[in-house]
Amino acid sequence: QAKTLEDANFFIFDWELREKLEQKTMIAKYLHSALEREEFVLHYQPQINAVTGKMIGMEALIRWNHPEKGLIGPGTFIAAVEEAGLMIQLTDWVIREVCRQLCEWRAMGLPLLRTSINISNSWFYNRNLIENLLAVLDHHGLETSVLEFEITESTALLEEHYPLLQQMRDHGIVVSIDDFGTKYSSLNYLKHFPVNKIKIDRTFITGIGVSSIDETIIKSIVFVASQLGYDLIAEGVETQEQLEFLIKHNCPHIQGFLFFPPLPPEDIHKVAS
Ligand code: C2E
Ligand code: MG
Ligand code: MG
Ligand code: MG
Repeated sequence: QAKTLEDANFFIFDWELREKLEQKTMIAKYLHSALEREEFVLHYQPQINAVTGKMIGMEALIRWNHPEKGLIGPGTFIAAVEEAGLMIQLTDWVIREVCRQLCEWRAMGLPLLRTSINISNSWFYNRNLIENLLAVLDHHGLETSVLEFEITESTALLEEHYPLLQQMRDHGIVVSIDDFGTKYSSLNYLKHFPVNKIKIDRTFITGIGVSSIDETIIKSIVFVASQLGYDLIAEGVETQEQLEFLIKHNCPHIQGFLFFPPLPPEDIHKVAS
């Protein structure tokens, strides 16, 4: 019924009303059918070696290709997906889609570049997570090293997830902390948390040339990462000044609009080849 769809459509963008159960149910149905109709798409943002300018990998970022509204960014619907209890399904779809896309690129003769996937807390409650993951990779004939999982600090901090993260690492999957520095960056937990890589949050990068506190924090993160043997990437690099600061202070990798925004898959093909 058109009216119901229109309402659901409206409520997704109206956070004031989302507490009401009836509306939640409607949103859940709408998202569920979006999943079934394969209305979600992934864009890919290249990650760059700061010194050579070469593409070293990419991050998969989800968009909703809405039949009427066009492309909608994740900020608008990720929380609703979580609330609707669809995050496991959505994440499983993202993983399968990334693997499918990597195979397609491989078949076109592109080099296989590591691709990172954003993982939310609830995905860790997926049963047989590691087995399923290995099965998907195996099905596509892909090595575990082509995947990276980005976890935000709030998720990462849950100690109950450490064994799973450790297993992923043991299997050769890269685990990174997303938005590093924005939540509970206790240096102590870096000691225990099974991670390979840190992503410096954009909020610090925007402070380059503006805030000496942000600059000091960035330099400290670079130091800690290199001392502890973590790979490091700066997120949200938009200006030449920011790039020069990061190169000068030995941040090895860069992601941001200065190089590329998230790109549809057909454009990645031009950048990566
Ligand atoms: P994130 O993982 O921290 O991703 C980086 C966000 O910064 C992306 O926004 C990207 O488009 C944007 N960005 C990249 N470079 C620049 C820059 O130079 N300047 C500025 N201003 N922004 C830049 P996007 O695509 O809207 O994604 C927002 C968030 O949604 C992501 O933050 C991530 O937490 C979440 N997300 C995206 N895709 C997925 C997904 O497949 N699953 C889950 N669970 N979350 C996702
Ligand atoms: Mg991310
Ligand atoms: Mg981030
Ligand atoms: Mg973020």
